[in-house]
Amino acid sequence: MKILSVNAGSSSLKFQLYEMPEEQVLISGVFERIGIDNSFYTIKLNGEKIKKEADLPDHKKAFEILVNELIDNKVIASCDEVKAIGHRTVQGGEKYDHTVVIDEDVINDMIKYSPLAPLHNPAAITGIKAAQEVFKGALQTAVFDTAFHATMDEVNYMYPVPYEWYTKYGVRKYGMHGTSHRFVSMRINQILGREDTKVITCHIGNGASISAVVNGKCIDTSMGLTPNAGVMMGSRCGDIDCSIVPYIMEQTGMTTKEIDNELNKKSGLLGISGVSSDSRDIEDGIKTGNEKCILAQDMYVRRIINYIAMYYVEMGGADAIVFTAGVGENSISTRKQIVDGLAALGIKLDDEANNCRGKENLISSEDSSVKCYVIPTDEELMIARDTYELTK
Ligand code: ADP
Repeated sequence: MKILSVNAGSSSLKFQLYEMPEEQVLISGVFERIGIDNSFYTIKLNGEKIKKEADLPDHKKAFEILVNELIDNKVIASCDEVKAIGHRTVQGGEKYDHTVVIDEDVINDMIKYSPLAPLHNPAAITGIKAAQEVFKGALQTAVFDTAFHATMDEVNYMYPVPYEWYTKYGVRKYGMHGTSHRFVSMRINQILGREDTKVITCHIGNGASISAVVNGKCIDTSMGLTPNAGVMMGSRCGDIDCSIVPYIMEQTGMTTKEIDNELNKKSGLLGISGVSSDSRDIEDGIKTGNEKCILAQDMYVRRIINYIAMYYVEMGGADAIVFTAGVGENSISTRKQIVDGLAALGIKLDDEANNCRGKENLISSEDSSVKCYVIPTDEELMIARDTYELTK
């Protein structure tokens, strides 16, 4: 059965078509600059990457081009062969703790939760509506990024603010990257060969979040009401003293939009280093002795270590720590700094094993008190799996 996994942004559309249940990727790609000029798309098929320019006024046009490409490349004979489409969706509020088949109520709920994810939910709805128009017979599902974190208890998800902020405005911790945390925590349990595990999953990419997962269920996570909480990130500040916000607004006359922009797009590694939000550039800066890059990296690592240590205590120990996403899968030096910083817990790195990028590997030494793994994440596959389950 052919299942399409879709991630729609406001001007982009990423896709991956699977043969399920074999979990074989048939074709993948991305449409970019939708609704803007100079739009184009790239397709990966049979190990080859093709880039084409195309007029992409909206997401519907992107899906229509996708159908033509699938037919021209003989991946499908007709549109009906795509039986289901899974949509990556960010905010499912308190209601959605699992993937669901999309109907009018789900769309209305996504609209209701849009103020909590103003960049993501409206884009996902655009993608869903366009897919419904083009793939008329296909089952459509919403895979919520927040769903995996729905198992947190109120001690962890509540903020110590007036209670009615929660009841009136939905102010609580929802967490993000749930599909990725779920994927790697399922995989680590397979590797460990049991379900009764205590695992800390570190999704460290451009955005970053850490989760505490007990017996496959999330009990705590570092992101909050929004993705700008928890650890320091590429360009987001993560946890800071919240009174900095009114203080800087008063000092500078910035509007809420402007300060939100500074905290999301001009902070983190970028804000401190002044060089870049990309770990690779920070690593290059460190090699040339750039002191701001050294400071940015040390701050970045310290915050990740603190979260891991906090969750270690919260769970009463840990069986494994998993590193995933762009930095977690690829940055040998960041992983080394993090694991070395956990020495007080008896956690030890195997430097040779850690010398790897983008592949599953045990990177802790034999005498480490906690096993540390690199596990590449695969959110698209998780979406396809969930969607396949719902076709049954
Ligand atoms: P996103 O959060 O946007 O999905 P990714 O998970 O793809 O991001 O992570 C992207 C980040 O991964 C880059 O910004 C960069 O910091 C980091 N990264 C990618 N490759 C490497 C590498 N070889 N070494 C260090 N960092 C890397």
